[in-house]
Amino acid sequence: MPETPYFVSYHEAIKILENQPLPLPTEFVPLDEGHNRVLSEDLESKVDDPRFDNSAMDGFAFRYQDSLTPPTRLSIIHTLQAGTKQTPKPVAKGQAVRIMTGAPMPEGADAILPIERCEVNDENTTLTIDEEGKKHFIRKQGENLSEGQIALSKGALLTPSSIGLCATMGHPKIPVFQKATIGILSTGDELQLPGTQLNENEIYESNSFGLAGLVKWSGHTPKRYNSVVDSIDKLRIKLDMAAEECDLILTSGGVSMGDWDLVRKIMEEEGEIKFWRVKIRPGSPPLFGYWKGVPIFGLPGNPASSHVVFRMLVAPYLRASTGGGGIEERRIRVQLAESFKSDEKFLVLRRIKVDASGDQLLAYSTGYQGSGNLNSLVLADALTLLEPGHSGEKGTWCDAILL
Ligand code: AMP
Ligand code: MG
Repeated sequence: MPETPYFVSYHEAIKILENQPLPLPTEFVPLDEGHNRVLSEDLESKVDDPRFDNSAMDGFAFRYQDSLTPPTRLSIIHTLQAGTKQTPKPVAKGQAVRIMTGAPMPEGADAILPIERCEVNDENTTLTIDEEGKKHFIRKQGENLSEGQIALSKGALLTPSSIGLCATMGHPKIPVFQKATIGILSTGDELQLPGTQLNENEIYESNSFGLAGLVKWSGHTPKRYNSVVDSIDKLRIKLDMAAEECDLILTSGGVSMGDWDLVRKIMEEEGEIKFWRVKIRPGSPPLFGYWKGVPIFGLPGNPASSHVVFRMLVAPYLRASTGGGGIEERRIRVQLAESFKSDEKFLVLRRIKVDASGDQLLAYSTGYQGSGNLNSLVLADALTLLEPGHSGEKGTWCDAILL
């Protein structure tokens, strides 16, 4: 039995992980490459947004005072379009300027009417309006953002809209956390690559492919190795190689209590374990520690478990490593539409289908919940978070995380 924290609660495991995040340096990427990256510094705006008072409508700008007793006739003095090079002429009493969306407000004017509410004579010289001008069609300088304001903070995930905002703020390059290279190493004598001939008692190796997808989903770079057989010496060679080439290592399989669980054995004898076993179901066997100074998660071999453990332990660890941000775990509150097996001591993560057609979100099981049953995960929308001691009874409520 290791002296390190053993069979910890989920919250204890998270605390241990968050206390020693992966150190990820900053790199600057062009805006075009910013999608799905995570900001490593607060970002200040280099400009006011809007930069100047401008029109929100195609229409006419004039003095509000002039429009108080409709119908009003005003003389049109010139036209302003967005990006105009002319200096707008001041608008005097009785005058109007034809204005396009985004064009600067001319001095003196403090109201707008959209073109469809205006009548213009054939010569384009006189405007007649039957209502008061509207002040709210003026977009005021700095009403969205002022120069120097932090609009996006460290840890922000760069979505299409936030990348647009980086450009609005005047940044051609953005500081983001470097992606971690994450090595993925499956273990097991029985594992063969899909496409090869299976001998007796062999199966297709699936975890490394699923985990590589999860690594990409979390915004990092997977480095998938071919699986290693159950041999301490072979495992040591592969772990050393992964430690040289990667920032973080994920192994799958060989981490439980069995005689052939060599990842656990080699970590006990030659590595540094920070915790082993966590009170979550499925997926109680995992360990976290360091191999030659490189952080390593030993994930369970059962395919559904390895996926669930990535979502529950590796993803929060990676979020802690990127300023507490990145791909978020989206939580929903569901009502159990059938009874689920829960546990006094374990956080239970059942694979559920969520019916959103009624007033509340209803959770149904995706069927047999064996930890080797990947299909039940494929069918699932979410995982329940049945806290230790939750009854799991039909009609009760719990949080769930969307997959
Ligand atoms: P283990 O944790 O090594 O005892 O493996 C638990 C179960 O998961 C066994 O039935 C293994 O055959 C299976 N398994 C382990 N690794 C993988 C993998 N990479 N792909 C598919 N199944 C696996
Ligand atoms: Mg095994």
